Amino acid sequence: MSPEDLLAFDRGHLWHPYTSMTDPAPVRLVTGASGSRITLDGVGDVVDGMASWWSAIHGYRHPVLDEAARRQLSRMSHVMFGGLTHEPAVELASRLVDLTPAGLEHVFLADSGSVSVEVAMKMALQYQRGTGRPERTRFLTVRGGYHGDTFDCMSVCDPDGGMHAMWSGVLPEQVFGARPPRLESDVAAWAADFRTLAAEHADRLAGLIVEPLLQGAGGMHPYPASCLAVFREVADEHGLVLIFDEIATGFGRTGTLFAADAAGVAPDVMCVGKALTGGYLSLAATLCTSEVASGLSASDSGVLMHGPTFMGNPLACAIATASLDLLSTGDWRADVCRINTGLQSLHEIAAADVRVLGAVGVVQLDHPVDVDKATAAALAEGVWLRPFRDLIYTMPPYVCTDDDIAAICRGIAAAAAVA
Ligand SMILES: *Cc1c(COP(=O)(O)O)cnc(C)c1O
Repeated sequence: MSPEDLLAFDRGHLWHPYTSMTDPAPVRLVTGASGSRITLDGVGDVVDGMASWWSAIHGYRHPVLDEAARRQLSRMSHVMFGGLTHEPAVELASRLVDLTPAGLEHVFLADSGSVSVEVAMKMALQYQRGTGRPERTRFLTVRGGYHGDTFDCMSVCDPDGGMHAMWSGVLPEQVFGARPPRLESDVAAWAADFRTLAAEHADRLAGLIVEPLLQGAGGMHPYPASCLAVFREVADEHGLVLIFDEIATGFGRTGTLFAADAAGVAPDVMCVGKALTGGYLSLAATLCTSEVASGLSASDSGVLMHGPTFMGNPLACAIATASLDLLSTGDWRADVCRINTGLQSLHEIAAADVRVLGAVGVVQLDHPVDVDKATAAALAEGVWLRPFRDLIYTMPPYVCTDDDIAAICRGIAAAAAVA
């Protein structure tokens, strides 16, 4: 098929994320990707400021990840996980248990981030049932969050500003505290209100779920690490299962291996996804403590009631293990630090609220972005960006050079100027 035919069929038949079939937004044709670049038909190579929604941390076609995929392909791509196990799953789980905060000992391998959040919430509900508190069926969270697109995930996404306001009345009703403040000096007042809210609803609450340190798709909002200690204390005080959704923040993005590490706080349940396979395949994991695992096993069913067809996919697990080994043997900390320094030049963009955390750079305008115009302006600077709402941001691959980061900053500035 010619590029024109591909785009024409796509327009008529393929849904893209959050788009209409009757009035589809324009898409561009990608023909390849390598290192920090993606190749767009008719445009050429551009620096990928998005790392394919924050997942391609080592860049594209990394020789070590490609080799891990080939090696596993020559053994088996997939076998069911019911009644069977395999080395790729065991190796990955052992890496995850080692790397994640202390106490997280048990690993559920899910096939996407949203499913891992569903599993986390199910763990919390079954834990409460297993420990004699079946009336605890709701979740406490904060406004401005994003936890995925399936129904239980949507119920803990931001109720107003998020993409799912339309589902109110359909979704389970959860309890929302204020979004954590940006400044340390505002934490005490926020924490007092949050504690009061938790106390009011405690006897109905199964768990507390948050994105630690950085709210991603709900608004690219960083907040002080001291809030994580507040979440831990509130959860402990009221017997809530504390769930950290590290799907966006995990694997170094915010400057520590996990955002939880910035506060030295360990959750009871943790979700990882996105960068887990270095952006190669869809895979996520839900980890929990022995306390949660034994509590939920005492519930009526005696088992964790979940088991996707592609659970523990060997190909994805083998690549994920190779990606974690690249992190462990490489110097991601220095890369994230270097990228952070480069992104500081975003502060020169006037008339915008700029925030930089780890390898994340965010420019918030005072009006919604014209996505088509902004995308075109960035492409003219040789950069791929995907703004949303009033936000133009980057979460680049860690392999970006200083020149790549400078280009991304020019792309963001150009996009902000026309948007
Ligand atoms: C992307 C994301 C999810 C959902 O992951 P999918 O793989 O898209 O289902 C959940 N939580 C957070 C914090 C995310 O960034």
